Amino acid sequence: MLEVKDLVVTYGAVVAVHGLSLTVKAGQSIALLGANGAGKTSSVEAIAGLIRTRSGRVSIDGRDVTGHPASTVVRRGLALVPQWRELFRNFSVEETLIAARTGAAGRGALPLEQIYALFPVLAERRRQIAGSLSGGEQQMLAIGRALVTNPRVILLDEPSAGLAVGVVRSLVGIVRTIRDSGVGVLLVEQNLEIAQAVAEDCIVLSTGREVWRGPMREAMALDAIRDAYFA
Ligand code: ATP
Repeated sequence: MLEVKDLVVTYGAVVAVHGLSLTVKAGQSIALLGANGAGKTSSVEAIAGLIRTRSGRVSIDGRDVTGHPASTVVRRGLALVPQWRELFRNFSVEETLIAARTGAAGRGALPLEQIYALFPVLAERRRQIAGSLSGGEQQMLAIGRALVTNPRVILLDEPSAGLAVGVVRSLVGIVRTIRDSGVGVLLVEQNLEIAQAVAEDCIVLSTGREVWRGPMREAMALDAIRDAYFA
């Protein structure tokens, strides 16, 4: 289980996240919503240990990981799928998945066959280098790389960005499968429809502050939320 308490992230004098708190339990999916610049990426990057936290606390299964490097955070069971995937372009699909296995630490990595069962296209392309894959395939590889670490919680930063509608639809199905297998999911999204297809509850951010939280279907029904933050 992931617990975030009063997370504050700053860049110099700019406060990007003003005290975010959230909990993601096993098999639960929460969406972090908001327009460009709302502070979503800063939040998940700070939770994952990629950028510094000004204050606040992040814990996984009750163990404090605040301020720990990303390599430690992933070993504790939290895997980030970064916004622009950040794959090693010259690694093959299989090399990418094998390299990620160290992140599983004592939990034991997932067998590659399990990743290939979820993404049959990656099995077909296992010897192809990441840089030559389509955008959708790269996103699948980025998710596969996170899943190999056998995470307790996965953070997905706008997995739909720049992808065609059909690809997004299959990604939605995959994220649901991951959630239903008992992994907690924190999904960053700008698109309410995609978020609703995956998450039960959401937190809406605006200029780094939480402005609403509640069930996704209520957020969808509130014109005030749609108009203010998703116009
Ligand atoms: P997007 O959907 O565009 O990624 P976001 O909701 O993820 O937006 P962030 O990228 O977290 O928002 O940005 C939050 C705020 O922090 C913005 O005002 C942004 O300009 C600022 N910011 C983000 N990264 C940096 C940085 N490296 N240096 C300075 N300011 C930054």
